Amino acid sequence: MFIDTFGSNVFNDDVRKKYLKPATYKKLENIRNEGAPMDQAIAEEVAAAMMKWAVEKGATHYTHWFQPMTGITAEKHESFMEPGPDGRPVLKFSSKALIKGEADASSFPSGGMRATFEGRGYTVWDPTSDAFVKDNTLCIPTAFCSYNGAVLDKKTPLLRSMAAINRQALRVLHALGEETKYVFPTVGCEQEYFLINKEDYAKRPDLILTGHTLFGAATPRGQMLETHYYGSIRPRVKAFMEELNETLWSLGIYSKTEHNEVAPCQHEMAPLFNKANVAADQNQLVMEVMKKVADKHDFVCLLHEKPFGGINGSGKHNNWSLCTDKGENIFKPGKAPAENTRFLLFLAAVIRSVDDYQDLLRISCSTASNDLRLGGNEAPPAIISVFLGDDLEEVVNDIIAGEKTGKKRAKMQTLAESMPALKQDTTDRNRTSPFAFTGNRFEFRMPGSSVNVSCANYILNTAVADALSDYADEMETAEDVEKTARSIIRRELAAHRRIIFNGNGYGAEWVEEAKQRGLLNIASTPEAYRHFDDEKNLQLFERQQVLDREEIASRKSIGLSEYVKTVNIEARTMLMMIEKQIIPAVAGYAEELAEGICADDSRADLPKPLRQTGKKLAAEAGEGLRDLFAAKEDLEALLEKEPKGEQEAGDYLYTKVRPQMEICREAADRLETVVKKDDWPFPDYTDILFYV
Ligand code: ADP
Ligand code: MG
Repeated sequence: MFIDTFGSNVFNDDVRKKYLKPATYKKLENIRNEGAPMDQAIAEEVAAAMMKWAVEKGATHYTHWFQPMTGITAEKHESFMEPGPDGRPVLKFSSKALIKGEADASSFPSGGMRATFEGRGYTVWDPTSDAFVKDNTLCIPTAFCSYNGAVLDKKTPLLRSMAAINRQALRVLHALGEETKYVFPTVGCEQEYFLINKEDYAKRPDLILTGHTLFGAATPRGQMLETHYYGSIRPRVKAFMEELNETLWSLGIYSKTEHNEVAPCQHEMAPLFNKANVAADQNQLVMEVMKKVADKHDFVCLLHEKPFGGINGSGKHNNWSLCTDKGENIFKPGKAPAENTRFLLFLAAVIRSVDDYQDLLRISCSTASNDLRLGGNEAPPAIISVFLGDDLEEVVNDIIAGEKTGKKRAKMQTLAESMPALKQDTTDRNRTSPFAFTGNRFEFRMPGSSVNVSCANYILNTAVADALSDYADEMETAEDVEKTARSIIRRELAAHRRIIFNGNGYGAEWVEEAKQRGLLNIASTPEAYRHFDDEKNLQLFERQQVLDREEIASRKSIGLSEYVKTVNIEARTMLMMIEKQIIPAVAGYAEELAEGICADDSRADLPKPLRQTGKKLAAEAGEGLRDLFAAKEDLEALLEKEPKGEQEAGDYLYTKVRPQMEICREAADRLETVVKKDDWPFPDYTDILFYV
C-alpha cells in the first residue's frame, strides 16, 4: 500500500536507526538538531551506512546536490565503484567524499566574487537535510562555496539565518523563564503550476525559450466562468497527480493538498510544512519531479509566474512559523492572545521586520517573471503590508490604546437546523494581502512559482532575529521582565502600526493610502535591487552574521544580471517570432485575399459586397502588418541602445524595452484575431488552455 512506501527513498530517521550504531545515531541527532560539531569518526560511519543503504536501493552513483545562484539544483554524479587492491572493483564512499566535494565553480554565477580563472568550488554536506536516492543516485544535500569560502549558493544564507533566529529567539524565551533548547522556522510552500500539452508546447518557441507566451489574443472564455477553481480534476491530470504524489511520498515529502486553481490548466500542490531548510530542499525536488512526471504524461509543467497574459499567474505561498524543541508553535495565539506575552512579543517582532525591511522582502520576490505577476489584479500588490484579521487587529489596537474596546462577535453559526454548528475561525481569509496571519502562521504570498524559497526565508528569519535580539537586550537586564516585555510590545506595535492593513489590497485606493502611510511601492526588479545594499540592510545582515558586504554585492549583481539576461532573451525571442513566423503568416494571408476576392480588375465577376468586404479584410491585415513591423523596428532600435552596467541596463529594460514589447504584443495579438485560424503559425490560447 502507498503508506508503506512513504520515505522509502530517503535516508531518514528509521534508516539511520537501523544502519547506525546507537551512539553514532545519537551524536548525529545532536548535530542535526542542536548544531553540535561534526567529527570524522561519525562521518565515516554515516558514509558507510549511507552507501550500504543506497546500493541496496539500486544506486550506482552519488552526488552532492546543491543550489547555485541559478535558482535550480545542480548535481555531478560520481560512481561508487573503484579499483580495489587486487585490481577488481570495490564500492567506496568515504567520509571525505560525504563531507566535501569539489565542483568546477567557474560556470556558476558568482556576481564578481570569484574571477572565472579561480575555478575551484566546494560543496559541503548539510547533515540537517536528509540524503535521498533519485534516478539510481544517492543525493546528498550540500551548500556551495568558492575556494576562499565565499558563499555561492541559496542554501548557506538560509542555514545561517536559521542559526541567527535560533540564537535570538532562545535569548527571548530564556529571559521569559522558559527552558527551551532550540527554535527553528517551519515552512510550507504551496506550489502553483500549469499543465499543458507537450504537442502545443513544442510549437511555441516563446514557451520553449522563455517559459511563457509572449503573444496570444484573449480566448473568448478565459477564466470568466470561474468553473476551474476546485473543479473536478480531468482524468489525465488526475493520473499525473497520482504519479506525482507517489514519487514525492517515496522521497519523504508529504504531498498533502491538490486542487485545480483559478485559471484553466492551473493546479496547486501543498505539502505538509517542515523545517525551513528541509522545506526549501523539498520544494526544489517538487519542482523537478513535477516536470519529469508531466513529461511522462505528455504534458509540460509550466512553473513560470505568468505563462499566459490576461490569465491568473502562479505563485508559491510561503507559510512560515517558529517551532520549539517541544514542538510548540510560537505563533499559536491560544485562547487569550491578549494575555499571551510570548505570542505578542514574537508577533511584534514580525510586524516590525516586515515594516523595516519591506524592501528586502520585495527583493526576495523580484525576478523578471514575477514582475509580470505582482501588482496584477489577481496577485498580491507590489506594496507590502500585514493582514492580521479582525480579532487580532482588535487585540493590537487595544494594546496600543492601552484599553479594552471589547467588541465581541458571534462565534457560532448554523447554516440550517439539520447541520452541525460552525465555529468561526479567528481570522478570515484575505487573499489580497501579501503577508497574512492565518491563525497560527504567516503566509507570504509574493514569492513567484518558480523561485527557490530560500531567499524569502533567509530575509524573514534574519529580520525577525534582529528584532528579537533588541528585545532580548532589554529583557535580559530588566528587573521586571513581564512588565518590560509588555512595554516593548506596546511600543513596537504602535511604532509599526502603519504596516497593518486589513482591507482590499487590490484596490486603487490602497495604492493612495499606502503612499500616505509612507509604505514602499516598488514596481520592478531593478528598482528593488537598488535598495539591497542600503546601509541599514548591510548592517542587518552583518549584525546577524548572515551575509557580509561582498556577498550582498554579489547577490545584487547576480539578481540584476539575471533580469537583464531574461528580458533580452524575451525581446529577442519576440523579434524572432515576429520576423520568422508572424509576418510571413500575415503576409501570406493578405496576399491570398488580395489575389482572390478583392483584386477589382481581375475578379470583376465576383459580387460587389464580397469584393468590398475582402478589401476591408485585406486592409485590416495590411494596416496590422504595418503597425507590427513599425513596433518591431522600434524594439530592435531600443535593444541596440541598451546602456552598459547592470543597474542602468535593468532600469532601461524595465522603462523602455518591456513597454515596447507590450506594443509589439498588442499589434501581433490584433493580427491573430484577423488572420485565418489555419494560417496562424502557432497554437492559440484556446488550443492550449482548453484541451480535453
Ligand atoms: P490555504 O489554502 O489555506 O493556503 P493550504 O492547505 O493550501 O492552505 O496550504 C497551507 C500550507 O501551510 C501547507 O503547506 C501547510 O503544511 C502549511 N502550514 C501549516 N501550519 C504551518 C506552520 N506552523 N508553519 C509553516 N507552515 C505551516
Ligand atoms: Mg492553498
